[in-house]
Amino acid sequence: MEITNTISALQMLLSPLQKAKSKVALVPTMGALHKGHLSLIKIAQQYADVVVCSIFVNPTQFTDPKDLEKYPRPLEHDIKMLQEAGCNFVFMPTVKEMYPTFPTPEDWHIDLGAAEFLLEGEFRKGHYQGVTQIVKKLFDAVNPDIAFFGQKDFQQVLMIKNMVKHFNMPIEIVSCPIIRENDGLAMSSRNIHLSQNDRENALVLSKALQFVADNFNKLSNDELLGKAKLMINETNGVELDYFTIADGETLLATTNKEVKNTIALVAAKVGETRLIDNMLLN
Ligand code: AMP
Repeated sequence: MEITNTISALQMLLSPLQKAKSKVALVPTMGALHKGHLSLIKIAQQYADVVVCSIFVNPTQFTDPKDLEKYPRPLEHDIKMLQEAGCNFVFMPTVKEMYPTFPTPEDWHIDLGAAEFLLEGEFRKGHYQGVTQIVKKLFDAVNPDIAFFGQKDFQQVLMIKNMVKHFNMPIEIVSCPIIRENDGLAMSSRNIHLSQNDRENALVLSKALQFVADNFNKLSNDELLGKAKLMINETNGVELDYFTIADGETLLATTNKEVKNTIALVAAKVGETRLIDNMLLN
């Protein structure tokens, strides 16, 4: 496994492989890797000849400076995990490598469509500009044929697909299933911040989603939302940002059971940690 910190070094390693027509996959991450990330590497290995994993805690997508500061960075552990998973290249750039003018923000903006401002976009202003800015830069650096993202960040995948369409990039975007702990909690790098109590309380999020999924054909969406929100609001230490049943294409709330690709999405603060999760309903 080769580890590089600069775009030019990475491109030097990749270009002979790309000239020889190897299919290159990219798995972008912010590190603090867990089994969810490794599942993306494993799926990428099935699709491509060469897998590049990037580790970069992207400052432009954080809306809360404290969240950025306390984001876990267990680099040695991450490298060991990627080595064991058989990843081929790790790209770990500095902030200056990706944003030469940092901390002065770059003055460009991508039209991501109306869904940019819903859900996470409403609670984390500018978040998806930051996300798509870094993914665009990573795509330009790696020039992958295919890139893998987790359904865990459902809206993120949608925004990246919109970004790829916007720039006509010849890159296939694959959304991969959510990996959960045995008790249902969606794996997340932020789970490390949960106290034992928070960890128990956080379970209500996947339980409420599962309740909605199990009863989707029996109850109206309003009834489902009422019960799910009640479950969450009755749990101590959990502060709900949103729970919605939405059209998976537009992210607009829907009561129409005929909409294909309907999804329940939730975000809540559990203690001091903000978590998101979702479940496809049909
Ligand atoms: P992050 O390091 O949190 O930016 O995540 C990097 C990638 O891993 C993103 O595409 C996430 O959606 C994905 N990911 C994070 N958690 C999970 C999970 N529990 N299951 C599957 N993919 C995940």
